[in-house]
Amino acid sequence: MDEMGRRRAIYLGVLVAVETTLAACADTSAPGTRPAANASGRTPKASRRPGSPSPSPSPSPSPVFRPVAVPTRRPIHLISEVNPAAPPNAIALTIDDGPDPEWTPRVLDLLAQHHVVATFCMIGDAVREYPDLAKRVTAAGHAICNHTMSHPQPFAGLSAERMSSEVAGAHREIWKTTGVTTRLFRAPGGSWSPAVLNTVAENGMQPLDWDIDPRDWSRPGTAAIERDLLRAKPGSILLCHDGGGDRAETLRALTNVVPALLSRGLTFVTL
Ligand SMILES: [Zn+2]
Repeated sequence: MDEMGRRRAIYLGVLVAVETTLAACADTSAPGTRPAANASGRTPKASRRPGSPSPSPSPSPSPVFRPVAVPTRRPIHLISEVNPAAPPNAIALTIDDGPDPEWTPRVLDLLAQHHVVATFCMIGDAVREYPDLAKRVTAAGHAICNHTMSHPQPFAGLSAERMSSEVAGAHREIWKTTGVTTRLFRAPGGSWSPAVLNTVAENGMQPLDWDIDPRDWSRPGTAAIERDLLRAKPGSILLCHDGGGDRAETLRALTNVVPALLSRGLTFVTL
């Protein structure tokens, strides 16, 4: 190796060291965040930063709540409110009430078939009962949102103490199982109140709502679910369910809707 080659090798070595240090600093300054989806809307495992939560966390102390950079004390309806860096043609599919042994695997298979990602709003009790499913969700690059420990309704009617334990219980269960520190919270049934929003903010999370709700949980028929979901626009957050009962209509609707939205040039992103 000549002198120029040696200098270049030293320069590259220093560059790698600096980048490694910066990556480590970024991890400690933004705990709990997940890699943003890339331009294709996917969140490849290869983009997982060093030190990011892994699907198999080693036993260690309980997770600590840390406020996100800019906690918003109002429910988020559009992607731009939670992820300003998302591409302009982004849409986000959120899937609530799982994991469920019958429906979650089918939804995951469908999403994988189209190479799209979603955000799963999980119930802590279900995560505890089906930990392998929760791990499968994160291993596939999807995001997780806190959807309480036991899905009590009306959530806004609970005492402050119970509210807090529902939020913290799910946070802990999801973290213990998947290594993910949830930074988004969705109230069961979208039941928000000043007390709920305070509890969410105290726990360092942002409240997450939606702007397209096909009410698939009420089983209005596959065509009705499809019609509503196809109203999605760039920036929309869609609501669907993979738990809480027979989700055959939801699955059939998504089977048609996901490729239809992709064909419009929309890109699925995680939140
Ligand atoms: Zn729910």
